[in-house]
Amino acid sequence: MNETNNAPGRPVPAAKNESSDFISEFIKEDLASGRFSYVHTRFPPEPNGWLHIGHCKAMTVDFNMAEKFGGKCNLRFDDTNPEKENVSYVEAIKRDVRWLGFDWEDREYYASDYYEYLYELALKIIKKGKAYVDDLSEDEISEYRGTAVPDKNNITLTPPGRNSPWRDRGVGENLDLFARMRAGEFADGQKTLRAKINMADPNLLMRDPVMYRIRRDTHYRTGNEWCIYPMYDFQHPLSDAKEGITHSLCSLEYEIHRPLYEWFIREAEVFPSRQIEFARLNLTHTVLSKRYLLRLVQEKHVAGWDDPRMPTIAGLRRRGYTPRALRSFISQIGIAKTDSTVDIAFLEYCLREDLNKTSPRAMAVLKPLKLIVENWDADREEELEAVNNPEDESAGKRKIRFTKELWIERDDFEEVPPPKYFRLFPGNSVRLRYGYIVTCTGCDKDSQGNVIAVRCSCDPATRGGNAPDNRKVKGTIHWLSVRDAVPIEVRIYDHLFSAEKPMEGGTPGDFLEKLNPASLELITDAYGEPCLASARAGDRFQFERLGYFARDPDSSGGRAVFNKTVGLRDTWARIANQ
Ligand code: ATP
Ligand code: MG
Repeated sequence: MNETNNAPGRPVPAAKNESSDFISEFIKEDLASGRFSYVHTRFPPEPNGWLHIGHCKAMTVDFNMAEKFGGKCNLRFDDTNPEKENVSYVEAIKRDVRWLGFDWEDREYYASDYYEYLYELALKIIKKGKAYVDDLSEDEISEYRGTAVPDKNNITLTPPGRNSPWRDRGVGENLDLFARMRAGEFADGQKTLRAKINMADPNLLMRDPVMYRIRRDTHYRTGNEWCIYPMYDFQHPLSDAKEGITHSLCSLEYEIHRPLYEWFIREAEVFPSRQIEFARLNLTHTVLSKRYLLRLVQEKHVAGWDDPRMPTIAGLRRRGYTPRALRSFISQIGIAKTDSTVDIAFLEYCLREDLNKTSPRAMAVLKPLKLIVENWDADREEELEAVNNPEDESAGKRKIRFTKELWIERDDFEEVPPPKYFRLFPGNSVRLRYGYIVTCTGCDKDSQGNVIAVRCSCDPATRGGNAPDNRKVKGTIHWLSVRDAVPIEVRIYDHLFSAEKPMEGGTPGDFLEKLNPASLELITDAYGEPCLASARAGDRFQFERLGYFARDPDSSGGRAVFNKTVGLRDTWARIANQ
């Protein structure tokens, strides 16, 4: 079910050989046949972690389908697991959904508000003789259920399971025991309520699944009011039905649960919500499962759920992603019925497309080296004009100051240049962006022979970087005036995992071994233009020649911190054209 049919590196553009939107087709049929007269969807996160980009796909599908058919989409917290859920996750989820631009209006629901309703429906199913209280332990239940085994030809067989000795309890006894389960008369795990379906069904999920378990845990919303909690497969379809959800859209791993979804709807005799599955989003070089992301957080492999290396919405936001880029990415990968893995370079491509149009430019120097303009007076200052965004004329221009001492990147000088090196080396000329053409005259070294400053002369006829005589100057470099530059901290990120598919090969627990040890590089002694000091958290810039950067909320070090969002070079075009 979860096979990846697309090798990473291959684009997954709007599902070429599949219907680009099979869900719309299903919905159209349902409206035409009169099965439903309206469309109502829901986005149902469990508040047990922060949302990731896979959820961004799910909510885009949920909200967009509703909008497309003039319907509504609810936000429902599927919160029936007291151990793992809490209100801080609810808040984080709401913030992320809103930030992505989706609006659930006043339709914010909680499955935990439905406990009484679900209990009543359980009674109804018991009364029909379709559910029973079982005394088997959790381990015994799975042993009786049986497992899938490969035969000698490696074909999966599911030999029938065994009925529980308690399966044929009478309705009266079941009603009594279930009421006493609720009343707290039994210990955790001592009894369960199970649906009476078929212990020989080839689908193991249909072999008398557990509907309720006893669990003395404080739920973040209902406190200690309940000591029995409904299981997902029972709760989810009936919660959908309660809200009049017509199309319950979910990822492909729920396909195998669909017969059970339909069984509960039928036996509870409720609104006939329809489950439709679509492919999960997988991305190279990362993991998209809350369980594994939680481990990264708890074991401190990252700084938190919103660490800019995380594929969480909050991490991506802090990294500098825009809602528009994420939504454009989701719409371009399309909705398919088979799982695939999308190359993260394609996500970065979508991001760059957006940032290029919207980000103001600024200059920053990450590895500073001093450039001394020998023919410029020490106290002379000149104001030059720099374009804020060549893609957007309305962004205007700003003033930058040219002085005798400048900062340039250490990499932009070589005493002995390698072939095809067009930047500064003795005798060579470069253009200082928006400034002057300068010619390198030499460098200063310390006693160990390290270059500590570069020297040049400036051609006064080239103000603004224009050569009046059509001189060929191949290199243009960025710079800052030493007098104006403000110290900034820069955090450069690489893939969180070195492996393209961290969950493949070995056991799932091995995924931590595939973490990229060099996923974060801290640069604490960088410089930027003065305007960067007053940037607010979340402000985005293109640092000329370096990439896109976003101001981080962290200001604990006393200097502005910038996260590298993505580089300038498009690696996607190269991959796509292979
Ligand atoms: P995870 O596996 O990350 O814990 P989940 O499915 O348990 O995710 P939920 O909070 O239950 O998390 O998910 C809410 C909705 O998001 C579900 O409808 C689920 O199908 C969908 N969803 C989760 N992960 C993905 C994904 N990678 N791609 C598409 N949809 C997803
Ligand atoms: Mg899941």
